Amino acid sequence: MTYRAPISDMLLALNHGAGMKAAVEAGHYGDYDPEITAAVLEEAGRFASEVLAPLDRIGDQHGAKLEDGRVTTAPGWPDTYQRWTAAGWNSVSGPENFGGQGLPLAINAACTEIWSAANVAFGLCPLLTLSAIEALAAHGSDDLKNIYLAKLVSGEWTGTMQLTEPQAGSDVGSLRSRAERAADGSYRIFGTKIFITYGDHDMTGNIVHFVLARLPDAPDGTKGISLFLVPKFLVNADSSLGARNDIHASGIEHKLGIHASPTCTMTMGDDGGAVAFLVGEENRGMQCMFTMMNQARLGVGLEGVGIAERAYQRALAYARERKQGRAVGKSGDGMDAIIVHPDVKRMLMQMRALTAAARTICYATAVALDVAARARAPDVRAAATARGALLTPVAKAFSTDIGNEVASLGIQVHGGMGFIEETGAAQHYRDARITSIYEGTNGIQSIDLMTRKLGADRGAAVFALLDELSQTVQRVEASNDPAFGTTGMRLREAVGSLERASKWLLQRLASSPNDALAGATPYLRLFGSTLGGCKLAEEALAAYDAGEEFGDASRYVTLARFFAETVAVQAPALERTVIDGADAVNGADSVLLS
Ligand SMILES: Cc1cc2nc3c(=O)[nH]c(=O)nc-3n(C[C@H](O)[C@H](O)[C@H](O)COP(=O)(O)OP(=O)(O)OC[C@H]3O[C@@H](n4cnc5c(N)ncnc54)[C@H](O)[C@@H]3O)c2cc1C
Repeated sequence: MTYRAPISDMLLALNHGAGMKAAVEAGHYGDYDPEITAAVLEEAGRFASEVLAPLDRIGDQHGAKLEDGRVTTAPGWPDTYQRWTAAGWNSVSGPENFGGQGLPLAINAACTEIWSAANVAFGLCPLLTLSAIEALAAHGSDDLKNIYLAKLVSGEWTGTMQLTEPQAGSDVGSLRSRAERAADGSYRIFGTKIFITYGDHDMTGNIVHFVLARLPDAPDGTKGISLFLVPKFLVNADSSLGARNDIHASGIEHKLGIHASPTCTMTMGDDGGAVAFLVGEENRGMQCMFTMMNQARLGVGLEGVGIAERAYQRALAYARERKQGRAVGKSGDGMDAIIVHPDVKRMLMQMRALTAAARTICYATAVALDVAARARAPDVRAAATARGALLTPVAKAFSTDIGNEVASLGIQVHGGMGFIEETGAAQHYRDARITSIYEGTNGIQSIDLMTRKLGADRGAAVFALLDELSQTVQRVEASNDPAFGTTGMRLREAVGSLERASKWLLQRLASSPNDALAGATPYLRLFGSTLGGCKLAEEALAAYDAGEEFGDASRYVTLARFFAETVAVQAPALERTVIDGADAVNGADSVLLS
């Protein structure tokens, strides 16, 4: 079965849950015409269903190959990439002065979900190019922008992001790749990077690598890292491609999933050093890289959403077809489709509700980043910057955890056939697994949420969000609609749990950091469940208000209710895990090290 972009759900999430409609009405999106949103998403959905989704399986089976120092992608990949860029999909949110369409990041976020759902291994390549565009646009010199930016925006060239080395994974500050200053103002890089996504491929004529390296006189740790642009082929003054640069794929990984995405070991410096150009200032590479990483983190969160949506659609179709047993109370011969069984309904609803919550959290992050960049009033920009920073680790980690959970449930709905590759359910599970590891593991995201984001300004960004969530709860309660069941009560409890856990953590961050760190992952889960639950309730209320626009609004109420009563209801337990679990975690040495 192919994938169909759930346009109605996406529009409801984008405009209402994520607040894009209100931001447009407030003038934060300038002259953006919201009427085009649906048309863009429908067109993206069509391309995804017709072109990208059929390649997903082929890519999984064929993988990428390294032969004679060159990486080739799966059959159909280069041609499809050309069609995809020719249709303008790479340039959706790119800067207009470099050939981009200048559409909101939020629109590109919705498109990223679509590419990821149809073919996550394909979508990963432009996801990294987009991050490269952001970093170059924000920190590059005019010369570098003039040479590279338009080609990256159009997709004629792709970008990579090169941080990881064998001894430097989560601890980026321990990287050793060496940069030397050259007489002409450029640099030469020597070193080895591992796990570099699309580090080499045959889809474009050039690849623009963004590499972190250390100058000889740099201070230790992250304060001594610089960011360099390293082209695969040097670019001549007339814009034609020149000499092959000294950066090569020396290995390619065999992986659990995303087989079609080449994951390369990159070697620099076998032949005098890779010619490199500084992006930003010397020793301030981490600041530049954060621009790239934040963009990529949201993108990876959207991969989680996309994979979850695809797994849900596949499981739903199977559950409608597969016949086993009889519905309780039904007599006569024959079997019913498994979708009649309450436990199967539970799995499918869980898949759909978790996916919807993660979608809105990712879109809300994108809207915050848009408003931070586009709003005129400085106070609005500042608040949106804080909101975007707060939500980014949640978008990444919560959504990718959900991608994994939903893909696993998708296999369960299929029973034994889920474990067999032919159904395709297993591929989603394998593909999803990396999303909670790369772009900063979900553990690292949880620590970021707690230490940097909650810790900033004594929790101001978190408490501002909690105020908004409380207002949503009040609106649900004031609706007095029995269809919401105990939604209002459950969300009120969840907001209370998140508030208490946040206050407890704020007290411990400085005084007993290990106690706080022990609760980082359950805190992020509590955060995502509470936020997601309130967002789904907001969307249900908005769907009611919108009359026929989103079809039968009662289905969104049922979805919000399911989430509140089966997912957000776990908030008090997560609060206890954060607060009471610290002693057991920090006392674990007696178990783990004895
Ligand atoms: C398919 C694939 C594609 C990738 N693409 C790229 C790419 O394009 N560019 C790139 O630069 N990298 C890439 N990576 C690397 C990826 O970002 C790293 O694997 C990831 O950041 C984790 O680093 P690590 O593997 O060294 O794990 P480690 O850092 O060794 O972590 C192992 C475990 O320890 C935990 N841990 C580590 N430090 C701490 C801490 N301080 N506190 C609490 N827990 C901690 C982690 O959360 C994790 O659970 C890719 C990896 C893969 C597998």
